[in-house]
Amino acid sequence: MPNITDNLNQLHQRIQQITKNVNQNPDDITLLAVSKGQSAEAIQSAYELGQRHFGENYLQEALEKQQQLSGLSDICWHFIGPIQSNKTRKVAKSFDWVHTVDRIKVAERLNAVRNDHSTPLNICLQVNINGEESKSGVSTSGVEELAHAVAKLPNLTLRGLMAIPQNNQSEEKQRASFAAVAQLLSELKNSSPQLATLDTLSMGMSADLEAAIAEGATIIRVGTAIFGPRRSPENLGHRNP
Ligand SMILES: *Cc1c(COP(=O)(O)O)cnc(C)c1O
Repeated sequence: MPNITDNLNQLHQRIQQITKNVNQNPDDITLLAVSKGQSAEAIQSAYELGQRHFGENYLQEALEKQQQLSGLSDICWHFIGPIQSNKTRKVAKSFDWVHTVDRIKVAERLNAVRNDHSTPLNICLQVNINGEESKSGVSTSGVEELAHAVAKLPNLTLRGLMAIPQNNQSEEKQRASFAAVAQLLSELKNSSPQLATLDTLSMGMSADLEAAIAEGATIIRVGTAIFGPRRSPENLGHRNP
């Protein structure tokens, strides 16, 4: 049984150390606990230790756990999986953030169904920073047009960019990928007053935290380093699969 207390403590210490090394403020970094494949009990344990931001990839699995945890009213849910257009209604109604918007059609649908909420849905555009064919995300050349279009939608608040760089890159290349995402954000902010308030870089996971934070990550997404190995979604309902 993974020890969530120890894992979270170690992670916070690691973040402290990294931010100190690279002269960043640890308060500027939000730890997003990626809880896909983890039980509602595990999420509750992390919550009791002060963790508030949780990331989920699969809608059905997330909805079930949200239901079980509906008493935790200040929990903040982030959708970080690929979005299918036919699932936008439930995503817009059940999450506070979506990190994976990469086309205007999805943004328009999220906007249309968020109309009865008192708060806008926070949006990051997923950028395919290394131009990988297998990966979702808007291309680096398409991001500006998409950002301007999304920023016009009243029930969404465009917050920034999200990226999952190619894995197995050298440390140097990894760092260059994160720097390229940060550079894109900076260009967007300078491109119009409407985008000047963008403040989020969702990048960095367990293996590449250092590089991501050094390049200005504001949300880091960490799963197994907090919760241990994931269970497959079909086993989640059972305590002893
Ligand atoms: C699963 C996932 C993570 C976390 O991965 P771990 O290896 O469990 O730390 C981060 N970001 C995204 C987009 C994910 O899908």
